[in-house]
Amino acid sequence: MRILVIEDEKKVASFIRKGLSEEMYAVDVAHDGENGLEMALEKHYDVIILDVMLPKKDGMSVIRDLRGSGSVTPVLMLTARATTQDRVQGLDLGADDYLTKPFHFEELAARVRSLLRRTSSEKSTVLTCGELSLDTVTHRAMRSGKEFELTTKEYSLLEYLMRNKGRVLSRSLIQQHVWSYSFDTESNIIDVYVKRLRGKIGDEEVARMIRSVRGVGYIMREPDTNNPDGEDDDD
Ligand code: CA
Repeated sequence: MRILVIEDEKKVASFIRKGLSEEMYAVDVAHDGENGLEMALEKHYDVIILDVMLPKKDGMSVIRDLRGSGSVTPVLMLTARATTQDRVQGLDLGADDYLTKPFHFEELAARVRSLLRRTSSEKSTVLTCGELSLDTVTHRAMRSGKEFELTTKEYSLLEYLMRNKGRVLSRSLIQQHVWSYSFDTESNIIDVYVKRLRGKIGDEEVARMIRSVRGVGYIMREPDTNNPDGEDDDD
């Protein structure tokens, strides 16, 4: 999943970036409100973390413009001012949650997971699909109760596929939600990662829950909803 952090304090921004990267998210950072809004409107983010006090354009104006443009991306506001008025204004302008500085990273991470659940059909911290399960707190991936190791990107890809179970996902959508800004768009990296991920899952039948959709991308499906004669499967 991909997160945009709009925060001008370099130390705080890099603390959040580092922590979220360790939580297996792709992270982009903007250091002022104008640039942040531009990035938020241009790319597909799963969550936006927005500081209130920002140069060029403050957080309240950013959320107002973002919602005004029709964006429904969940927003977590960071406020240094612990006043009720501030929180009320942020929430009324369309923020989904807020966190008062200073905060513990664990709390930020829990709030991000909570926001990700709002837009997903999965309401548990453990995502499941057939025999597969992915614990988004401990980052453990299991098949039939047996753990298997994943790299950060393999984990991110599987998390994105599982959160969007039953939806056809184009390569460009997958790229935007799993890789951050510096991603090289030339390569066939998504296909390479899907292949590796299927290999890590091991069992061929289980790995077939990640199906190729010819000319588009991929879809993850529960085994009982598999329709072998339906979509093209180019494996
Ligand atoms: Ca600030």
